[in-house]
Amino acid sequence: MLLTSPCAACGGLAPAGVAVCGRCTAELSPPPSLSVPLGLDACSTLLGYDDVERSLITALKNRQRRDLVGWLAAGLAAEVSEPAVGVVVTWAPTSPERRRRRGFDQAELLARALARRWGRPCRPLLRREPGPPQAGRSRIERRAHPGFAALRPVPRRVLLVDDVATTGATLTAAARALRRAGAAEVTAVVAARASGRSGH
Ligand SMILES: [Zn+2]
Repeated sequence: MLLTSPCAACGGLAPAGVAVCGRCTAELSPPPSLSVPLGLDACSTLLGYDDVERSLITALKNRQRRDLVGWLAAGLAAEVSEPAVGVVVTWAPTSPERRRRRGFDQAELLARALARRWGRPCRPLLRREPGPPQAGRSRIERRAHPGFAALRPVPRRVLLVDDVATTGATLTAAARALRRAGAAEVTAVVAARASGRSGH
């Protein structure tokens, strides 16, 4: 019987079935106190985005530690109050290329895990827009400010889930697309939020 498994953050030993070891858990950062990103009615965050959190999100994205989905969903469900009946859960999708490369979209996995815990519906409502050619903008800028389009008329109340937010620009772009397609209330739940200025 396997009594230990590698910690998703440091690779050290953690009890079997536990994603993150005690030492890394003790080093987790609280979320930064930042204003709600534009376009959202509220935004709840579980963690900051420092060394341990970066390792965890990298492990989730690139090393396929899908057990972290359950770990993060449990943490979020304990922190964030259950959405009202009628709220539909969705996610800000990653680019199609990244999804193909990884074989999954971590934001979708997190959204589905949370919706299951809450007993709320979870539906894909957004796609990344390729957008017009953006001459003069770097790849990094385009990635930092993605465009989204709604896939269908969206429900009035939507809860948007994402794994990481830095500037909040991704959440703002997603919220705008949801409102253009009919959402009246858009809230967000984010696993980790950076206090820095560059990125998503
Ligand atoms: Zn660890």
